Amino acid sequence: MLRKHESARFGTQEPDRPTVGKRGAVSTIIAPSSPLTAADRCDRCGAQAYVRVRLLAGGELLFCAHHAKKFDAGLKKVAVEIIDESERLSAMAGPTDAR
Ligand SMILES: [Zn+2]
Repeated sequence: MLRKHESARFGTQEPDRPTVGKRGAVSTIIAPSSPLTAADRCDRCGAQAYVRVRLLAGGELLFCAHHAKKFDAGLKKVAVEIIDESERLSAMAGPTDAR
């Protein structure tokens, strides 16, 4: 019933993904998280990232709102912290759905 390999399916353990750069490579230092920008992209689809996920294993993932929601349950198993910046970013993007 409880499959231990369930979270491995997510495949986030690669130590050096080029897209992340140096961040997360050194696990002893946790840099203060800088705000997401338009240059930050979802690891799954390449759309603008709205949610930052800090992993238990070190490093972090970025997701668009769509994928953050889609992987929510799985992320909670492997994440130290999930930082949802969608509100801030949508406010930056413009008053499309505010009022
Ligand atoms: Zn995505």
